[in-house]
Amino acid sequence: MATKFRKIGVLTSGGDAPGMNAAVRAVTRAALARGVQVMGIYGGYRGMIDDDMIELTSREVSNKITLGGTFLYSDRCLEFKEEAGMKKAIETLKKHEIDGVVCIGGDGTFRGATDLSAHGIPTIGIPGTIDNDITATDNTIGFDTAMQTVLENVDRLRDTCESHARCNVIEVMGRGAGDIALNTAIACGAVDAVIPEVKFDEDALLKKIVRLRRDGKRNFIVIVSEGVEDCSERLAKRINDETKALGEKENDKTLWVETKFCRLAHVVRGGSPTLSDRLLATKMGVRAVDELLAGKSDLVICEKGGEIVTTEIKFSQVLDRMYKGTLKDGMLDGFTKEQLDEMKAIIAEKKKVFEETYALMAELAN
Ligand code: ADP
Repeated sequence: MATKFRKIGVLTSGGDAPGMNAAVRAVTRAALARGVQVMGIYGGYRGMIDDDMIELTSREVSNKITLGGTFLYSDRCLEFKEEAGMKKAIETLKKHEIDGVVCIGGDGTFRGATDLSAHGIPTIGIPGTIDNDITATDNTIGFDTAMQTVLENVDRLRDTCESHARCNVIEVMGRGAGDIALNTAIACGAVDAVIPEVKFDEDALLKKIVRLRRDGKRNFIVIVSEGVEDCSERLAKRINDETKALGEKENDKTLWVETKFCRLAHVVRGGSPTLSDRLLATKMGVRAVDELLAGKSDLVICEKGGEIVTTEIKFSQVLDRMYKGTLKDGMLDGFTKEQLDEMKAIIAEKKKVFEETYALMAELAN
């Protein structure tokens, strides 16, 4: 088993996420403990093409578990998608006698891992992205830290909203997924969450804010996911202008809910990973090494109901497309009926959890 593997590579690619360093540390220490050397590949797939890597010893990954970002750096490397780039990458891996690679990142990173695997290099993916947009896993590394960062920042905004009886519309990251926005809206006591997964009734929110203001409520937090286009800034202006006009009409200035807009943007990506993200990164990193050394390839490490499990990358990617409604002709070819039924069941469950979580948020936001 382990005899085949003399040396493995590890890289972080695509958007960075807190906890990636903890995952690199876990991969490194687990591999070394099993007698396998580790090369840290700089800047994602670019480091394979440019032969930019460093041997990771146990000391090299010391003191990295608390660090945000990724000390191996990350990049978006288009050349890797071309056959010529792939050829260079494989030459570099051969030169360094690297027998397998652990790729930490999001769905783009996994496409790269699948390509490498198809070219004869065993690869295992670890989901590292703040967006939690890999449907096959309950949680991705970085998601918990990103939510914690939103919470800390919104709590501060809430303090000042309460003092001045104001509203803050806060846009948070998440790409096409509303996970960060919905969960933080509950934890921040927001009056609403605007997410791509649930239809937003803007007029109803306006009415609710006016009703709650008349009732004496002073702080109004609305969390908007970046995946909902043309919403956050416009919504802030609308709440401000319409409540101001109402106050003037009724000659009651207290009805004006002065509204500010805030985009947390990349702030949400940074910072030291939370306990949950460090634990998840550690468990996933060790499991990735075990799978690689057991001769497995083209798998993504997932967390399901608290257990660490594996899923084929191909399954994970088609599942994502099915969930997002972006399947193309022929993509379901090759899957068994059982696999397709499993995908449908995972999606139905995820949608149910979203609807229930949204209902919980809406019921208490009063
Ligand atoms: P993420 O992994 O966060 O989704 P990207 O989509 O930017 O981020 O992908 C990260 C990197 O993975 C890309 O820069 C590229 O090097 C590689 N990659 C993405 N898509 C493919 C693909 N279709 N084939 C091969 N490599 C890919």
